[in-house]
Amino acid sequence: MITGTVFDIKEMTVHDGPGSRVTVFLKGCPLRCLWCHNPEGLSPEPQLMIKENLCEKCGLCLRGCTHNECRPFGRCLHACPKGLVTVAGIEYTPKQLAERLMKYRDFLNKVGGGITFSGGEPLLQAEFMLETLKYIKGIHIALQTSGYCESDVFKEALKRVDYVLYDIKLADTDEHIKYTGVDNRLILENYKILAESGKPFVVRTPLIPGITDTQENLSAISQIVGDNRVEIMRYNHFAPSKYKMVGLEFNLPDLPSNEVDLSVFKNAIML
Ligand code: SF4
Ligand code: SF4
Repeated sequence: MITGTVFDIKEMTVHDGPGSRVTVFLKGCPLRCLWCHNPEGLSPEPQLMIKENLCEKCGLCLRGCTHNECRPFGRCLHACPKGLVTVAGIEYTPKQLAERLMKYRDFLNKVGGGITFSGGEPLLQAEFMLETLKYIKGIHIALQTSGYCESDVFKEALKRVDYVLYDIKLADTDEHIKYTGVDNRLILENYKILAESGKPFVVRTPLIPGITDTQENLSAISQIVGDNRVEIMRYNHFAPSKYKMVGLEFNLPDLPSNEVDLSVFKNAIML
């Protein structure tokens, strides 16, 4: 049976597609953007999250326990008196996730919103996502994606969603490899497929100081997107705090911001 791993479900998100939405974060991403603000979404596997900065090293969570759910993690998930130990990543069958999401249907339809599949990169779990969508009826569905997936998979996903939020972070291939760990040519090919598909979409570009916020990069992205709508996302300065919780280091260089001139775009807004 297919199962999928979800690391968060957020209610009433307002920047993840039209209207108020419920955003489902699927775990796992093939990119490694240095500025990623969801480090707990990078690995496809469930993983421990520990608020080390508040830990008093009392050792209670390390004493061993008999709970089945704690076994894979080498710590008791229930022992910490301060609740500092959690797991990012819950496994669902498509039916279980759909049943949970369908509970929001009436409300989301009333407020003109919907459900957004995000991540991580949701198309890393495309089979699970598409199977889940078979059980979700009568709700507007958006996909928030890096566009980094096989084009056949992307086309299949396009048939099943109503709206796409598509990241174009860096136009230059070498820069893209340097800062996200992957080549952007597949992303740009899939962007063409999206732009020609007739599916409503928005391009999203994060403003990362000294990296994506250069006029050179923004001008090059404006050439790629033409008249299509672009949302320029301000940088989230809270990203570093979550890295330690999953045992990762935050390695984004501390570069000065550039003055941003959005007039290079025909149809852009700043979020
Ligand atoms: S139980 Fe909580 S405070 Fe004690 S060592 Fe574990 S995480 Fe730290
Ligand atoms: S594509 Fe998104 S989730 Fe993946 S590493 Fe980049 S910012 Fe993080």
